[in-house]
Amino acid sequence: MAWTVLHDERSTMRQQFASDNNAGICPAALARFIEANDAGHAAGYGEDRWTRQARERIAALFEADCDVFFVFNGTAANALALAQLCRPYNALIGHAFSHVETDEAGAPEFFTGGAKLMTAGTPLAKLTPEAVESLATRYSGPHHVKPAALSLTQATELGTVYTPVQLRELSAVARRHGLKVHMDGARFANAVARLGCAPADLTRHAGVDVLCFGGVKNGLAVGDCIVFFDRALSDEFLWRIKQAGQLNSKMRLVSAAWLGLLDGGVWLANARHANAMADRLATGLIDVPGVRLIAPVEANAVFAEIAPDLQAALRARDWQFYTFLGATGCRLMCSWDTQASTIDRFLADAAAAARA
Ligand SMILES: *Cc1c(COP(=O)(O)O)cnc(C)c1O
Repeated sequence: MAWTVLHDERSTMRQQFASDNNAGICPAALARFIEANDAGHAAGYGEDRWTRQARERIAALFEADCDVFFVFNGTAANALALAQLCRPYNALIGHAFSHVETDEAGAPEFFTGGAKLMTAGTPLAKLTPEAVESLATRYSGPHHVKPAALSLTQATELGTVYTPVQLRELSAVARRHGLKVHMDGARFANAVARLGCAPADLTRHAGVDVLCFGGVKNGLAVGDCIVFFDRALSDEFLWRIKQAGQLNSKMRLVSAAWLGLLDGGVWLANARHANAMADRLATGLIDVPGVRLIAPVEANAVFAEIAPDLQAALRARDWQFYTFLGATGCRLMCSWDTQASTIDRFLADAAAAARA
């Protein structure tokens, strides 16, 4: 099959650590995409058997009668889901490092029609019950925004994870203040893989009302999904998706690729692999002089302080990664296809540069 050839070629390809989106589509998803394409004509806008099946399979994954929608990317998933939870005068509570705050060009504010983001900069990119309590009670009365939703990122933007207990504590505070709970799960698979618990334990059993379940970083070309556990919240959501230009007319080519991820737990295997590569990278890096980990490695990211001259030496050897925090805080992302040999070459280069 065509993808087998692609996979072989990949072994000689240069891999990088700039983002988990540097990787392409995974073989299982690509195979299902090709199969759906080869099946001939099918109805558009999700009225097809692949989309029906993908929705059922995702609902089964969460052991729930939930509503499932597909959009093109994670920014749309977050912004549109949040628009279901917030009116224009509402506020959304999130972390200062959250993607909704820092990386979506104001899409959540735009699609909610003006809701304000209220953030806390708590350690390791994880909100605490105290921080949420403090933001939820900061204002009252009509002169201020009214908090309506809590947004949690799982795994977080610092590659850490919330445990089920932590999620339940956070959502309890949210409930007490009448907030709905949104989860940005662009790397939800990596969190499930690390924690080894059921997807339901990190979502609906932990008080999450709506999950943006990322497929792209896990091995798709396009297409993240939105899962409403509280089905009352998805009322007229399809109109919101359509108005935002996010209703894919050839939906089956996205949902079929999702089936490729879901078949035999490929999504979890991809995430486990990416996490294991991050572990391998972190284990090697801590032995390199001039390097210190900033956060525990709990997903597929390594955050490390790397001395500026060592960063420069690595970039001179064609390695790509981001300096995220100040001049020394670097982010190294591993993907579903990151090879152990890539990690080992990077570590060898780092060790050599540190000795030079
Ligand atoms: C990648 C990512 C998204 C989605 O980004 P898109 O580029 O819009 O697909 C959302 N949240 C987090 C935490 C991410 O890392």
